[in-house]
Amino acid sequence: MSKADLSKLHVETRFVHAGRNAPGNGVIVNPPLQRATTLLFEDAETLYDAPKTYAIDGMAVQEALRDMLVAVEGGAGAVLAPSGLAACTLAILTVARADSELLVVDSAYKPTRNFCTRTLRRFGVRPRFYDPRIGAGIAELIGEQTCAVFLESPGSLTFEVQDVPAIAAAGHARGVPVLIDNTWSAGVYFKPFEHGADLSIQAISKYQGGHADVFLGSVGCATTEWQQRVWETHKQLGMSVSPDDAFLALRGMRTLGVRLERQGASALRIAQWLAARPQVVEVLHPALSGAPDHALWKRDFTGASGLFGVVIKAPPERLKAMLESLRLFAMGWSWGGYESLITPSDRQIVRTVRKWSAEGATLRLYIGLEHPDDLIADLEQGFARLA
Ligand SMILES: *Cc1c(COP(=O)(O)O)cnc(C)c1O
Repeated sequence: MSKADLSKLHVETRFVHAGRNAPGNGVIVNPPLQRATTLLFEDAETLYDAPKTYAIDGMAVQEALRDMLVAVEGGAGAVLAPSGLAACTLAILTVARADSELLVVDSAYKPTRNFCTRTLRRFGVRPRFYDPRIGAGIAELIGEQTCAVFLESPGSLTFEVQDVPAIAAAGHARGVPVLIDNTWSAGVYFKPFEHGADLSIQAISKYQGGHADVFLGSVGCATTEWQQRVWETHKQLGMSVSPDDAFLALRGMRTLGVRLERQGASALRIAQWLAARPQVVEVLHPALSGAPDHALWKRDFTGASGLFGVVIKAPPERLKAMLESLRLFAMGWSWGGYESLITPSDRQIVRTVRKWSAEGATLRLYIGLEHPDDLIADLEQGFARLA
């Protein structure tokens, strides 16, 4: 189906019809999984000049995944990277220049921060962290020295929503590109290019993969000029994505519509249940009415995913007993699979602009595809151990 025809359909329909073979005379539904390095030619002219001369950029299945990502998130193109973190570093390396400053949100994913403070700094690119709630105030930090503004919204672990249009307007007024890690929304609930971003990162390992079995990332590009710049950097870095991994991601995306809807609804129900517990100080979920960034979330997002935080006040040994008593929530990193997770976040939260201070322990919950009644029952027996 053509890009223009697809764009008129609901996202659930795009998950099914994008990135696949058109019906034909006995054609298979899915693109072929081709393992390849070398493409063969019969003359030197085509060896040099064919549109594709080497398989490092990927064959049919990687191309189908890129088409799918663009059909969902919008923009002019997408470039694949071997992990979500690699997509972050690819986007940043596309815009970084020596002796400049990269404005990075203080609530960015910790490994993204580490790349900025360690590797980038060695090459003379200085990361400068800013408050996630800075909004239009970012203009005061932007100058000749700024190479780009990096956003992540909602923030990792603490879930602050950023005013993306205000930040993008301030950046563009000074000719500064705007990059956003849009993983939380899966590219579905927040449209980065309609809100002014130039590059949008997805950790495909999360929701798109959906089954806790694949590492992959992507950089979505607002324009074909940006796409060319990202491709150029991608090529120089020697990045490549296996057809098997691309196949798994594409397969995961076929069911993303129903998974997101179900998990978002279960998560909101569990967030509301948690908010009513006496030991809960705060639920960090922007879709909860009364949450600090609720108005901003409502203005810019069309839904919420299954990842949020909670602050619980309890003696450490009781909290430990509660966490270890849970049978359906396991502790583990990453998220986006079919299974629910709970992780203590305090040791993982790094903030340099404003220290994270909560009146209790901060935890991250990821709500999977289990029945929400079972998840609530599990939490209920866990909370009994806090009393
Ligand atoms: C997980 C995650 C990443 C990194 O993805 P990997 O595939 O694990 O490298 C980047 N950004 C955000 C917001 C994430 O949650």
